[in-house]
Amino acid sequence: MEDINKYTPMMQQYIRLKEDYADAIVFFRLGDFYEMFFDDALVASKVLEIALTSRDAGNKVPMCGVPYHAAKVYIQKLVSKGFKIAIAEQITEPGKGLVEREVIKVITPGMIIDDGILPSNEFNFIGAITLAEYGYILSYADISTGDTFLLDGLTKQGLLDEIKNLTIKEIILKNKADEKLISYLKDLNIVISIYQDDEIYHQAILKNLDSKTTKQAASLLVNYLFNESKQELRHLLPFEFREVKTYMHLDSHVLEHLELTESLTGQVKSTLVYWVDKTKTAMGSRLLRYYLTHPLKDKQLLEKRYDYVDAFSDYDPRTELENALDNIYDINRIVGRIASNNTNARDLVQLKLTLAKIPRLKEVLAMYQNPLIDELNERILTHENLYHLLDEAIVNEPPLLIKEGGMIKEGYNQELDELKNIATHGEAWLEEFLEKEREKTGIKNLKVGYNRVFGYFIEVSKGNMNLIKDEFGYIRKQTLSTGERYITEELKRQEDKLIHAKDKSMALEYEIFQEVKAETQKYTESLLHLSQLIAQIDTYLSMAIVASEYNYVRPKLNTNKIVEIELGRHPVVEQHVEFIANNITMKPGEIFILTGPNMSGKSTFMRMFALIVVMAQTGMFVPANRANVPIYDGIFTRIGSSDDISGGKSTFMVEMVEANEALTKATKDSLILFDEIGRGTATYDGMALAQGMIEYIHHEIGAQMMFSTHYHELTRLADQLPNVTNLHVKAKEEKDKMVFMHQVEQGASDKSYGIQVAALAHLPEKIIQRSKQILKKLEQTSKAKTVDLFSIEETEKLDTVIPHDVQTLLDELDSVNIDQLTPLDALIKLKYLQNLLKKK
Ligand code: ADP
Repeated sequence: MEDINKYTPMMQQYIRLKEDYADAIVFFRLGDFYEMFFDDALVASKVLEIALTSRDAGNKVPMCGVPYHAAKVYIQKLVSKGFKIAIAEQITEPGKGLVEREVIKVITPGMIIDDGILPSNEFNFIGAITLAEYGYILSYADISTGDTFLLDGLTKQGLLDEIKNLTIKEIILKNKADEKLISYLKDLNIVISIYQDDEIYHQAILKNLDSKTTKQAASLLVNYLFNESKQELRHLLPFEFREVKTYMHLDSHVLEHLELTESLTGQVKSTLVYWVDKTKTAMGSRLLRYYLTHPLKDKQLLEKRYDYVDAFSDYDPRTELENALDNIYDINRIVGRIASNNTNARDLVQLKLTLAKIPRLKEVLAMYQNPLIDELNERILTHENLYHLLDEAIVNEPPLLIKEGGMIKEGYNQELDELKNIATHGEAWLEEFLEKEREKTGIKNLKVGYNRVFGYFIEVSKGNMNLIKDEFGYIRKQTLSTGERYITEELKRQEDKLIHAKDKSMALEYEIFQEVKAETQKYTESLLHLSQLIAQIDTYLSMAIVASEYNYVRPKLNTNKIVEIELGRHPVVEQHVEFIANNITMKPGEIFILTGPNMSGKSTFMRMFALIVVMAQTGMFVPANRANVPIYDGIFTRIGSSDDISGGKSTFMVEMVEANEALTKATKDSLILFDEIGRGTATYDGMALAQGMIEYIHHEIGAQMMFSTHYHELTRLADQLPNVTNLHVKAKEEKDKMVFMHQVEQGASDKSYGIQVAALAHLPEKIIQRSKQILKKLEQTSKAKTVDLFSIEETEKLDTVIPHDVQTLLDELDSVNIDQLTPLDALIKLKYLQNLLKKK
């Protein structure tokens, strides 16, 4: 350990403080700046692109700094890059000796409450992972909105998918025992913190969790948040318990491929959410996104959501309702800031303006005269008392700062009004006083002055000193070469009022602000409930608007695995082009092999199906004339071939990894969509793999599937496998040119059309002609010695392979870091591994 005595006392203070925050960048308050020293300065100056200087603190120390008033943007930049920030403030007044400093706040990517840093329509989650005997538990919270959730019984892959789908920014672990997990999280740029305390202290927040294990899992997160953020997080709502089994399995690849909320190419207009989010409020928008990325499996819940969409579809009150929701601020985040004391008077005004809208909102909801909506309406409280308090106390346009006055309305507090009166009328009083004294003494050039040592004084020149009489009550304070200075009791009394009125009024305003805030804090839970209700209304209203604007229909859900979609459309593509609608009729366990030239619309057809399914299971109406769909337990996709190059993996490897997801996890209740599997390798390889997969899904899984391919040969599988049906996208050749009809029909397409598509892309005519010659030749020769893939019988004994679940077990074992594992955790892990085997 380096000898810290060689540094100045302030630097020693810094070094000691830094010891407790080794993993954070410490913002050390020095007057009007936050300074960073040593390694923190080296790192931060680079990331923030600010000058690296040095400070002589006994020894030369690297330093960089940012102005206090502009710190927010710098903090935001560091946090968004995954750094933790510890804010060390001066907690004693500067003056004598060393100012004391203390870390008053820690900011990490998952612990942001401040306004202006977070995008309003996205959650900002922090999570904690614990392993229980029967699987992983993920508890997660957004401390800016107060929402908290707990998912129980996750497999490891399910856990990782969930973390990715929720874009969780920070994860708490109890130890570093699982090396693979940690490296996966690091790859996702997630900040990892190790924390042990999972004692159950905060019963109220855990009241919806019934087992000790889940309570402890949530406590790990809550304790971390309470202790480490150093914020008062009294706005955290009780954990919402979510069972994995109520949700459809939608892994992160599927989310990406279907472009539900994020675009593969960065174009927002290619995402579904861009077109279907017609919400008016931030909380509505967040909820809609949550719904979209968490489709349900529960028929009853879904029917209820459809009922709401139906209810809100009523045209007349709809526009009124849209207006009523307009300008409702983000209640969650305002309440979050108020409850955690990160607030100013503007938040209170925004809250007031929002509350002002509630009576009208209730009125409009009543106009629907619908029992479902009435029931929601009954739960909406107007918070009148709070509204009046805020309205009477806070001015309409208060400043950002809370210690400099200007926040409280006149008439709210008498003492404050008097103080303000004195401050504004002080000048006039002095003028009057001067006149009075001149008259009394008869001294025309008598002056009233002010200095810091004596305060206000009366100054009389030498020649007039004899006019001062005892009865005037003048007290001599200072003798000058030119005259004398006096004070009087009256002047001193007024001085006290004058000088202190402003300070006092600012202090009193601050006190009143604190009182109003404390009163508002009492409504935290009730305001968050209000926010949830508004979010729901806004979301259902958005679904209803979208349904009528785009002509969607309420889907029927069936339990016998039948698909009947009449004139289905792709909800995003139809916004860009004149869309040719297609029917889909599918039996249980049916597999479609979809052929057609490139660019004919195969992939659009499959995505259309997947999106209709996701929308139906989100509770939305769907783009079709009629839709009767099963409830799937999961969708598995392998779609698109050019999209993974940036990820660094070869396309073929990615294809196989994703195909594997489906092959190992899909059940007979799943939907599998494979687009052009096997394309990334040699023809025979690719075809053989494709056939192997189709056979496996047909025999072993029994899931419904669409398989698009340009391997024409695969269409012959329909003759051999009873559940396989050929479909093709119609295209016709006109004068050697392809015309795409985008119409999907029964039967295999007659040929592959590759050359025709090349011609469409304007390849040189010479190449096209030459290719046609070559093709002809090839077709002639291959007729002579066809390799008939489909006559190959399965050989009796396949090579020995390690079954997937055993492999999972081996992987789990392999990633255990024994040194980091406590005996108790080891036992839980053992039990978990045993349970994995029992599931077989
Ligand atoms: P493939 O997968 O067969 O190569 P895509 O599905 O990518 O073809 O479709 C190519 C383009 O054709 C799409 O970008 C879209 O603009 C258009 N398209 C596809 N299906 C339809 C349809 N049903 N109606 C209108 N246009 C369509």
